[in-house]
Amino acid sequence: MIELKGIAAANGISIGIAHKIGKEDFIVPKDNITEAQIPLEIQLFEEALIKTRREIIELQKRIGSDMGKNEAQIFDAHLLVLEDRMLIEEVISRLKKDKLNVAFIFQEVLKKYVSVFAKIEDEYLKERISDINDVGKRILRNILGKERKGLSELKDKVIIVAHDLSPSDTAAMHKRRVSAFVTDVGGKTSHTAIMAKSLEIPAVVGVQDATTEINAGDMLIVDGALGLVIVNPDQKTLDLYHTAEEKLRGVNEKFLSAKDLPAITLDGVKVEINANIEFPDEVPGVKLHGGEGIGLYRTEFFYMNRKDSPSEDEHYLAYKYVAEQMNPYPVIIRTIDLGGDKFLSQFQIPHEMQPFLGWRAIRFCLARPEIFKLQLRAILRASVHGNLKLMYPMISGIEELRQANKILDEAREELRSKGIPFDEDIQVGAMIEVPSAAMTADILAEEADFFSIGSNDLIQYSLAVDRANEKVAYLYEPAHPAVLRLIKNVIDSAHKGDINVGMCGEMAGEPSLALILLGMGLDEFSMPPQVIPELKYLIRSITLAQAKEIANEALKLPTGREVEDYAQSKLKEILK
Ligand code: PEP
Ligand code: MG
Repeated sequence: MIELKGIAAANGISIGIAHKIGKEDFIVPKDNITEAQIPLEIQLFEEALIKTRREIIELQKRIGSDMGKNEAQIFDAHLLVLEDRMLIEEVISRLKKDKLNVAFIFQEVLKKYVSVFAKIEDEYLKERISDINDVGKRILRNILGKERKGLSELKDKVIIVAHDLSPSDTAAMHKRRVSAFVTDVGGKTSHTAIMAKSLEIPAVVGVQDATTEINAGDMLIVDGALGLVIVNPDQKTLDLYHTAEEKLRGVNEKFLSAKDLPAITLDGVKVEINANIEFPDEVPGVKLHGGEGIGLYRTEFFYMNRKDSPSEDEHYLAYKYVAEQMNPYPVIIRTIDLGGDKFLSQFQIPHEMQPFLGWRAIRFCLARPEIFKLQLRAILRASVHGNLKLMYPMISGIEELRQANKILDEAREELRSKGIPFDEDIQVGAMIEVPSAAMTADILAEEADFFSIGSNDLIQYSLAVDRANEKVAYLYEPAHPAVLRLIKNVIDSAHKGDINVGMCGEMAGEPSLALILLGMGLDEFSMPPQVIPELKYLIRSITLAQAKEIANEALKLPTGREVEDYAQSKLKEILK
């Protein structure tokens, strides 16, 4: 039994079998395989060789016609490597003997070849090393790519162990049989973590050596609240966790008793408790957990796992469905927030050194108005079917808000000219997730109908901490005094400007921090559906006056750690 410590990303306990998936840049997993899996691994290897051969011939043809025959000849050497019987036979015989996954064996054999060639005093042969490496990488990518594709075909309930999971990986897993995630990299608000919450499964991210320490088929306990992964637990630990699972169910039942009641404080102040969703089919889950509306509908997922772009009707039908299902409750659709860690192949977004500071969200939309306007028209058209609002991500100042509104006006005009109805009074909000927007919230409040604080990004930008990087995760502190002061400024400015202010970042669903936000006067809290019952229970257990006192005390504390400890102690007192 070993214990691996990571970052607690989504609460819950899961006990199950590890399923590992590979990664593009070749951190090759080492997995034991059974006798029965040997033919499958050999097949995987042979298919990868065939695919690699096809790729190289194609490349050779293209280079031949673009650059000439001589340049194309270098690929002859690559093809020879592919046909090297000694290399192929060594892989297969070691596979049978060592019973390890073929990607790992292949990589080992490749390393051996390279070291043998490196020792030979012959310039020509030395040059072959780069050929072997090049082809080797191609073959590995094809072996691992194959493993990755299997993601959407999982049959048994498993715990996914990966170096990293991209938003498109997690989208492919949606509703599949996954009971928890464990990843080497990532932080508390990386999209893997957010996705885990929306799938209602525990997740531990940033474990660093998960993929090297865990073998496929290992028994795992994932403790999402503690950020702990126990590999091959002994019976005593297993029993302990089975009991903890039971207890957790009991606590959840207590919270569930509040799910259909309004979120009113003991002194009669009502706040809105909404849900964050990524897919229309999450709506039943929102209702089941007592969500009073949708505070954040992330729409990037329309663009994932596909080569083409979604049509206006595809957007429209999804928004119409969500609007109708939630009616009369509000649904806030966030316009596409592509870029950052949600990049896509179909738009050829160039590689950037700092994608989170780069061409993302509203910046991308303003530069590609045809894509933006298509979505805006779809939202407007759907607005007659329920209580829809829309908001723009990553607004950094009033000019961007005005530019976005100008394109929205054009979309309105296009619909009017065609006689297509829409809600003329649709509310248009700005997400406040860039420090410059938080500092100028008073200016923005004059022209926005509402604010929604995107704390996930606001924290990363104000503390200069990449939200998805486990190495700096210790600095990612939602309770940092700088973050609290920015949030307080946004709430006060919104109220002075007479508009509502919500929060849709993960912080809104953290019970201890929600106490502070309530005390600061936040009007709306939007969170993953499954935390709604606990938040409602909490708000119904406290007076606003008490919450204000907690917020005032918290704002006086000098460090995030002290704020966190203080809020936790208050939470314990309130929930007893
Ligand atoms: C946020 O930044 O807090 C937010 C809700 O947006 P996302 O997590 O999608 O960036
Ligand atoms: Mg954001």
